[in-house]
Amino acid sequence: MTKYGRSPWIDTFPKARVPSYPRHRGPSQTSVVVVGGGLTGSATAYAFAVHGIDVVLLEADQIGRGSTGRAAGWIGGDPTVSFAETEKALGRAAARDAFKSWRRAALDFAALIRRLDIKCAFTPQDTAIVALTPDQASLLVRDRKLRRDAGVDAPLLSARVVKAELGVDAGSALREAAGAVVDPYRACLGLAAAAAGRGAKIFERTPVRKIKFGRRKADVITAGGAIRTDRVVVATGMPTPLFRSLIRHFWFRTSYLTMTERVPAKIRQQLGRRQAVARDLSEPSHVVRWVDDERLLIAGADTLSPPVRQRDRIVVQRTGQLMYELSTLYPDISGILPEYGWDAPYARTSDGLPYIGPHRNFPHHLFAFGDSSRSITGAYLASRMLLRHHLDELEPADRHFGFTRHGG
Ligand SMILES: Cc1cc2nc3c(=O)[nH]c(=O)nc-3n(C[C@H](O)[C@H](O)[C@H](O)COP(=O)(O)OP(=O)(O)OC[C@H]3O[C@@H](n4cnc5c(N)ncnc54)[C@H](O)[C@@H]3O)c2cc1C
Repeated sequence: MTKYGRSPWIDTFPKARVPSYPRHRGPSQTSVVVVGGGLTGSATAYAFAVHGIDVVLLEADQIGRGSTGRAAGWIGGDPTVSFAETEKALGRAAARDAFKSWRRAALDFAALIRRLDIKCAFTPQDTAIVALTPDQASLLVRDRKLRRDAGVDAPLLSARVVKAELGVDAGSALREAAGAVVDPYRACLGLAAAAAGRGAKIFERTPVRKIKFGRRKADVITAGGAIRTDRVVVATGMPTPLFRSLIRHFWFRTSYLTMTERVPAKIRQQLGRRQAVARDLSEPSHVVRWVDDERLLIAGADTLSPPVRQRDRIVVQRTGQLMYELSTLYPDISGILPEYGWDAPYARTSDGLPYIGPHRNFPHHLFAFGDSSRSITGAYLASRMLLRHHLDELEPADRHFGFTRHGG
């Protein structure tokens, strides 16, 4: 029976091992408050704590159970928008810097997971950006030329290589190196635990109700009391009602994900080496990966977020749609059933890159909003950039991710 509306990462995690952090109580003071305990908030709390900064992380619910626990678990080497689009929005030099930053973040994030020995089924995997139609093949060739001219080339794979690696019939593909796959929930729990180990104070079931700021400090108000702080890092994935005026920068969308039951070994053998993530160029794009080398996971079929009352019905419909789309890629799996079908809301920016940094209307605040990349990498990238903002040690590429890039 298909489990609808539940993510497999959270559903299969042993209940007895779910960590429990206290609720926040009483007045206190700190240097930095991080609001939101998803991958972005947990990675940020870790980065600040390692730097010796006094940091408090406040999570409204439980660590890792927002978008993070519903994600595909893919560390992508590129920001999932085409180079052409990014160049059009930002210019060539900025697009090149953005792609390079992303690639470096993917590599550094993988290295951090290894170094911290986070048990999250971490498996290094390249991504193949596949062209499934002649139009997509032309787009790919054009994008590759732009990338090469800008110095962020990705090798072109022939149809034969794509078939051998992915078991997919595609005209061609670009190989994006530096990637990996993980269980995103476990990765997040591991990072939060590492942050706590370095002295970050983590509180769960502690929604931030209000943030007040004066000239020198901010006060973060929870049901348990107020925390006076020099800096507030807002890592809630998208603007919540706390930041209504920022909503205009975003489109609120929902992506859908489906994971199959175990694919029998006999069929798996016909599906290539199964050692790469596949992303196509349709709009919205699909990401397909293997989980434990046994199950296929597909993400895609994005729409504007539907009204809450329609959510359950649409998840069921989209699960059927994604299974159909998967079977067009892999005809051999027809008859295999979906084990999980769920959704993941996100906020998209006009150019597809997240907003990471300050906003002139909110003194003492730093934001990380709008990662529609489908990949984990933006969360790690945000944690490093936010630390550089805090320390006033910005790198040139960092400003391409700021609100100011569109005059915000
Ligand atoms: C289709 C799709 C697929 C994706 N796949 C992947 C993937 O494969 N791997 C991956 O890692 N990322 C993936 N992402 C990106 C992913 O969704 C996030 O960017 C990433 O997990 C980081 O999430 P986050 O921490 O920014 O947000 P979240 O995980 O949503 O965390 C935000 C947290 O803030 C808390 N919060 C909200 N309001 C308050 C408040 N007032 N007070 C306190 N806390 C509050 C929420 O409870 C929540 O836990 C994907 C995105 C999309 C759209």
